[in-house]
Amino acid sequence: MKRYNKLATAFSLALLASACSDSDSDRGREPDLPEPDPEEQALSLPQSQRESSWFTAGEAAVDAARQQTVNNTPGAAKNIILFVGDGMGISTVTAARILAGQQQGLDGEEYQLSFEKMPFAGLVKTYNTNQQTPDSAGTATALMTGVKTKAGVINVDETVARGDCAASLERPLTTALELAEAKGKSTGIISTARITHATPAATYAKSPERGWEYKAEGGCVDIAAQLVELTAGDGVDLVLGGGRRSFLPNTVTDLEGKAGKREDGRNLVDEWRKRYGDGVTNAAYIENQSGFDALDIAGIDKLLGLFNASHMHYEADRVNDVAGEPSLSEMTAKGLELLQKNNDGYFLMVESGRIDHGHHAGSAYSALTDAVEFARAVQVAMDNTSAEDTLIIVTADHSHVMTIAGYPTRGNPILGKVVTNDGSGQPQETPSLADDGLPYTTLSYGNGAGYANMGEETDADERYTHSSGIDAGRKDLTHVDTTAPGYHQEALVPLASESHAGEDVGVWARGPGAHLVSGTNEQNYLFHVMARAGGLLN
Ligand SMILES: [Zn+2]
Repeated sequence: MKRYNKLATAFSLALLASACSDSDSDRGREPDLPEPDPEEQALSLPQSQRESSWFTAGEAAVDAARQQTVNNTPGAAKNIILFVGDGMGISTVTAARILAGQQQGLDGEEYQLSFEKMPFAGLVKTYNTNQQTPDSAGTATALMTGVKTKAGVINVDETVARGDCAASLERPLTTALELAEAKGKSTGIISTARITHATPAATYAKSPERGWEYKAEGGCVDIAAQLVELTAGDGVDLVLGGGRRSFLPNTVTDLEGKAGKREDGRNLVDEWRKRYGDGVTNAAYIENQSGFDALDIAGIDKLLGLFNASHMHYEADRVNDVAGEPSLSEMTAKGLELLQKNNDGYFLMVESGRIDHGHHAGSAYSALTDAVEFARAVQVAMDNTSAEDTLIIVTADHSHVMTIAGYPTRGNPILGKVVTNDGSGQPQETPSLADDGLPYTTLSYGNGAGYANMGEETDADERYTHSSGIDAGRKDLTHVDTTAPGYHQEALVPLASESHAGEDVGVWARGPGAHLVSGTNEQNYLFHVMARAGGLLN
């Protein structure tokens, strides 16, 4: 404990006063600096440089960074919020930032997403123990348990073969959410994906196969059943997302006309109601926008909201939901309202699950508009919590193979074709042509199903059934509006679904312990930041 304090203090000092060479001594090295030469004159800067807005803004940013103070006491983070942008690699963050800025009439490049204003950031190595480029089950396990594991397994260690139920029962991993429950904190899970999908599942379930969402093998319990049976504390307090079908028997049709998937006849929604007394005690089950809007959080301590049979809609496509569903930022606001009723604090995981799906479908439009909504949800959390007692960590589980290419002029539409400038900044009149004589877009994919022009279609998944099939390689985009919702970018290597990428992802943090988010770390490190700052292990 003492060592931790000393190291962490040195770390924060080094960060906060990185311009000050004295901080070297705090890190255990004697300063060994030459005596200042009295003859030496400080080089004075040209007036125009000193007055440049870039120069003064940079200077002001350093001044602000030096003022940062961090509560370094273990356990000071009464509340912990982990935001996961599924598939939100660095290029996605950059492109989403530009899109969000351009939506507000700016050039875009200078814009900052909510979490980019947080004082601390670092890089995260995302590989699984058996894969250079990871999947979401292994990465979510690292985030939630502090232990890296294989692709495809949830909260069991790397010695367990995928799908081996018996082995998995011997090697379960306890999660941050379970630890928080055991400490009497409230807990919540919010996702636009199925709530049984890899990332949200990793907050509560243990399974040697991520696909066992409603049916397991070898005597294991499926993921949906594990959610309603969770024994840590009094179980999860807040659940908002998609995935209704895994909770309903295949003989039951939901309000949107979709059948359940369960073959064991169990109705887990009814079981949840029975456990928590829906309508009797302070528990509520909801499944559409009107139910969500009518919630009186003052009277509710347990909330289950399942808004779609499978995943919730892409943000750009949300208006097309049959029964109506809330946005990620709306769910975050309502969820915080409920969790904040507990004076002992809370643990909340919020996932934007479909940035990943947009990329898999080869639709930068969907991925980026979901990433912008994700940033809005983070803003809601930043606005409704205090940096005094709430640690917010924002990260991604892995990246995707989307690139930002060419030399587009400043402010060029991020979803557009590359238009260069004449050197003075004046845009050329027509898009640049590649050496094959064809225009090209700033955003493209290294692999995937490739080009499709689906006009105003806002459901990116329609790409999988589109008549063009897999269509990799170059196309003539001269007369194509590449900024339209239904445009799917060109891809180099043909794959039915675009793939994850193996490079590092970013992590941003604010609140007690946020200074520990620094440097390049293994993904499982982030669990330990939350555990230490939140006092989850003592
Ligand atoms: Zn994925």
